[in-house]
Amino acid sequence: MKIQENVLLAPYTTFKIGGNARFFAQVSSVAELEEAVAFAKEGSDETRHLPIFVLGGGSNVLISDNGFDGLVIKNEIMGIVEEGERIIAGAGENWDNFVRYTVEEKGLNGLENLSAIPGTVGAAPVQNIGAYGVEAKNTIEWVEVYNLTTRKIEKLSNADCRFGYRDSIFKDERKNNIILRVSFLLSKNGKAMLEYKDLKMFFAGRADVPSLCEVRDAVIKVRAGKFPDLSKIGTAGSFFKNIVIPRTEYQTLLRKFPTAPAFLADPSRKVQGSTSTSSQNSVQEKSNDPAVKVPTAWVLDKVCNFKGVRRGNIGMFENQALVMVNYGGGTAREVRTFAEEIIFCVKQKTGLTIYPEVEFVG
Ligand code: NAP
Repeated sequence: MKIQENVLLAPYTTFKIGGNARFFAQVSSVAELEEAVAFAKEGSDETRHLPIFVLGGGSNVLISDNGFDGLVIKNEIMGIVEEGERIIAGAGENWDNFVRYTVEEKGLNGLENLSAIPGTVGAAPVQNIGAYGVEAKNTIEWVEVYNLTTRKIEKLSNADCRFGYRDSIFKDERKNNIILRVSFLLSKNGKAMLEYKDLKMFFAGRADVPSLCEVRDAVIKVRAGKFPDLSKIGTAGSFFKNIVIPRTEYQTLLRKFPTAPAFLADPSRKVQGSTSTSSQNSVQEKSNDPAVKVPTAWVLDKVCNFKGVRRGNIGMFENQALVMVNYGGGTAREVRTFAEEIIFCVKQKTGLTIYPEVEFVG
C-alpha cells in the first residue's frame, strides 16, 4: 500500500469540491488499513498523531477548499459473502451495485427502495440511508468495525449502532471507528414497501403486485427524474435534513402556512437540535406531543423559493429544492455561504432551524 502526498480530493467526492489531502492511502484489506493507521499514529516525527478521515464514495461530504491536513484513508475493502438470506458486504463495495446484486441476482427483498443511492456499503450504516419508507437499519444485522482507539476489530449489533433518522453512533460516539463489513438480513418472501406517493403513482392502475426488479427499476426511474445525474453535475444529494419538531410546533407553523405537509416521525428520530435520541423521545412520549417530520424540501421550495436558484457556481437543483448542486468550479466557501443564506431565510420565515445532512470536513 502506497501513501501518497498532496492528493486533490475533489475528484473523490460527488460534489467535486475539496482541496488536497496532505496524505492519502487507498486500502483494500484490514492489513493495509492497519498499516495506514500506524503511519498516521506512530510514523516519523513529521507524521505522528495525524488526524484521520475515512472516505467511502464521497457522496455525503463537503471537503474544505483547504483540504484535509492529515491522512485520508479511502476505504476499498471489497467482497460479498452470501449465507442464504444473510448477505455480508465489504465497506468499499459500491452501494447500488450491491443492491442490484441482492435484488436482481439473488431475488432478495429489503433493499430495492434504496436503489440508486450514491456511495458505498460502508456509508449506509453511518447515515442510516433511507428512501421511500425504507431505511438501512431495517435490514442491517451487524456492522464490523476497526476501532482506531483500541486498534481492534469489533462487531456491533443493530441495537449497538443506535440508528436514528439519517443518524447512527458512527456520527458521534463511534466516529473513531472504520467500518469494515456490514451484514444484511434480507428476505425471500418479503413485501416491497410502496406507500410513498411517487411509487404509488408509478404503479397506479396495476392490479398485481410488482416484482422486486420492477420496484428497483421504478425507484431508479423516479430518482432519475428528480435528482441530478452524478456523471454530469456535482452534488452531495440532500443538503439539509428534514425538519423534525413536536406536533404543537407544527400547529404553530400551520397557522402561518396552512398547506405545510407533515408526517408522523419515526420514534427514533431526533427532534430539532436535540443531541440525545433517547432522552428527547422519552420527553416527547411523556408530554404526549409526538414528533412530526416536515419536508425541508417543501419549505425551501414553497416558503423560501430556492428551487432552481443559483449563486455563482452553486445552486439548488431545479427538480428538488433540497439538493444543492455544483455547476462546475464551485467552492466549499460558496456552498457554505449559500447554505447560511438558506438557513437564515428558513429561520426568518418560519422560526425553524434547519441542519445540514452533509458532513463538513477540514
Ligand atoms: P419525497 O418523496 O418528495 O418526500 C419528501 C419528504 O417527505 C421526504 O423527505 C420523506 O421523508 C417525506 N415523505 C413523503 N412521503 C412520506 C410518507 N408516506 N411517509 C413518511 N414520510 C414521507 O422525497 P424525495 O426528495 O423525492 O426523495 C425520495 C426519497 O429518497 C425520500 O425518502 C428521501 O428521504 C430519500 N433520499 C435519501 C437520501 C439519503 O439517504 N441520503 C438522499 C436523497 C433522498 P423521508 O426522508 O423520511 O423518506
